[in-house]
Amino acid sequence: MAASATPEGAAARIVIENCAIATVDANDTEYASGYVVVAGNTIESIGAGKAPEGLENVVRRVDGTGHLVTPGLVNTHHHFYQWITRGLATDHNLFNWLVALYPTWARIDEDMVRAAAQGSLGMMARGGVTTAMDHHYVYPKGSGDLSGAIIGAAREMGVRFTLARGSMDRSEKDGGLPPDFAVETLEGALAATEETVKKHHDASFGAMTQVAVAPCSPFSVSTELMKQGAELARRLGVRLHTHGSETVEEEKFCHELFGLGPTDYFASTGWLGEDVWMAHCVHMNDSDIEAFARTGTGVAHCPSSNARLAAGIARVPDMLAAGVPVGLGVDGTASNESGELHTELRNALLINRLGAHKEAALNARQALRLGTYGGAQVLGRASQIGSLEAGKLADLVLWKIDGIGHSSIADPVTAIVFGAAAPVTLSLVNGEPVVENGRLLHVDEDAIARVTRDEAQRLARITAES
Ligand SMILES: [Zn+2]
Repeated sequence: MAASATPEGAAARIVIENCAIATVDANDTEYASGYVVVAGNTIESIGAGKAPEGLENVVRRVDGTGHLVTPGLVNTHHHFYQWITRGLATDHNLFNWLVALYPTWARIDEDMVRAAAQGSLGMMARGGVTTAMDHHYVYPKGSGDLSGAIIGAAREMGVRFTLARGSMDRSEKDGGLPPDFAVETLEGALAATEETVKKHHDASFGAMTQVAVAPCSPFSVSTELMKQGAELARRLGVRLHTHGSETVEEEKFCHELFGLGPTDYFASTGWLGEDVWMAHCVHMNDSDIEAFARTGTGVAHCPSSNARLAAGIARVPDMLAAGVPVGLGVDGTASNESGELHTELRNALLINRLGAHKEAALNARQALRLGTYGGAQVLGRASQIGSLEAGKLADLVLWKIDGIGHSSIADPVTAIVFGAAAPVTLSLVNGEPVVENGRLLHVDEDAIARVTRDEAQRLARITAES
């Protein structure tokens, strides 16, 4: 699919020049001053110096002076609906926070979810995210087409998107955390998940929408749903996602209920494998990390959320050393109110340096790799996105690094990772502009700000009246 074609049918070209480039390819190739040529929805060529001369069908030339170009950021864990429950239960640990918020979350409807998706997607896209994901697992009866609303919002924004169709069937009466009225039945959850995959999942190279099977977590999902969910995903050929090893309380819960730690429980239910990625993985021992490495199971590292909920520090340096694929996630914005991924590059680096490996834990380039190529790996799309290489999809970001926040920082990659969140001058997704000069191109930001505020207030009112 060409991003835009000329009347003759040849792919239109966008030429970006005079910029620093961090390709995040296998060799971490960088150019102090280089070019990128985009043709249609793919990268045609990239290199040092000026773009090749004599290119035809050039519809746009971008002077990238004062900018760093990187692959677009890839978010690997989020819960969009939480955009309208930000700033609540601000001083809680995970379990107390969940118990405080489930009654509110269980009252969401389609209009609320659409608005929350717009807010979540907009904030991420403004900050350089080109591939977003939403792990949505709250489907109250009669709440409308929530998956359709979320996918529609991503299409409207113009970002590449994975919907992890979540589910919960273990409520309070079965020893779980969610209230009884907030969960689906085992059969209902599986049928709706299959329907969502069949309706929306695109397996093609340039897919803008993919769907994964994503029961919520061991403490809100039955063992049967974990097992049958894994079987369903493999029958349909899609990926598997869930939360794992987030807190010490979860570890205790798994031991009490299943007689196993979280990783052994996941192994027993078919949830380790190269088609699986898991959010958090904070409380992992050496043999857990070895099991993830051996099976190719991926991790969505969410440093701000883990800090907000006092969950702990994931052992990212040890995971990387063992060969575990690791990407970054913002997590839901009820536990990370900023909802930005570019700040997670910095937080991943800083928080991991507070762990066992100290200043050797992560460097700026490793942090950038987590947020780009690592994310593509855990979403199963490393051959398509996550690095800037000829033939890959044209998802890229021009970060402005000659402004007051960054002009005196010695190195471009250090500037965007250690420095303040850098402004996005231009981002392309599938060869199409999505952000220009910090503003979203396809939606009205001010309208989104209003509708998300109104829907947050409506949800609070409905919850208070119940
Ligand atoms: Zn989460």
